[in-house]
Amino acid sequence: MKLNHLSVSYALVGSLILTASLLLASCTSKPIATTSSAKNLFPNTYALDDGESTITWIKDNQGTTMHEAGLFPDATPEVIAELGLQYGIASTISCFLLHADGKWALFDTGLGIGKGQLITVLDSLNVSSESISELFITHFHGDHIGGMVYEGKPVFPNAEVYVGQREYDAWINEMPKENTRMQREAMDVYKNRLHFFQFGDTLTHGIVCIDAVGHTPGHTVFQKGNLLVIGDLLHGAALQIPHPEICARFDMDKEQAVASRIRILKYAADNNLLMAGMHLPEPAFIKPGQAK
Ligand SMILES: [Zn+2]
Repeated sequence: MKLNHLSVSYALVGSLILTASLLLASCTSKPIATTSSAKNLFPNTYALDDGESTITWIKDNQGTTMHEAGLFPDATPEVIAELGLQYGIASTISCFLLHADGKWALFDTGLGIGKGQLITVLDSLNVSSESISELFITHFHGDHIGGMVYEGKPVFPNAEVYVGQREYDAWINEMPKENTRMQREAMDVYKNRLHFFQFGDTLTHGIVCIDAVGHTPGHTVFQKGNLLVIGDLLHGAALQIPHPEICARFDMDKEQAVASRIRILKYAADNNLLMAGMHLPEPAFIKPGQAK
């Protein structure tokens, strides 16, 4: 089956086509196992184009997440009906585990111990929290940094932490202190292992930091080879891929969020990049080239 045989528009069948393209993506990528238990996750582990690194989806939320259309106030009832989304828009809360250069790293850390499943899933993959070498943080919302700290201590005691300078400045230096307690605690607990990046920087493992501001002041997308980790660029993929001009309520600056969404979805499509998204529907990977 070839991807270009998919001739039906996303706009017509919404989430069904999302599912179809996910299946198609699995036909053209090379899912492989990195540990004995990871092989059972097919197609949730993908090999990257360097032939050595892998990326694995970790579902942090329990059960199923369906957003109500009301989360997207600019979506008219006509658009929702046309896409068949009257009963909800599928989503997840997700993290991603990277294996590269012999090391384990995480993109974001989910809701946190007691709320999310990250540590349980890592255990099932035989990856201990002590063996996580790096955290790459897309932004500072609680469903992304909530897993960094538990009872005042680092959950990942050996991890170097990469955060955007702009995101850090906004939350730690500009917003009212009473609204940013979680963010301050996370940054304080890891203060000796924080690394600040600028947009355009290339980090360890060749990970490039891409400006995706709008959802938050320093929201970052990460690229490694043919993989694009899109953070919160999409909260309801079945709605926002055909209509990138529609924001979720969570987007802090709507105008910037729309511009970033349009620019990065086009970049992903033009370069045929596998997108991993923290709120994409299961299994949280999508190839956007078929989503035009
Ligand atoms: Zn989020």
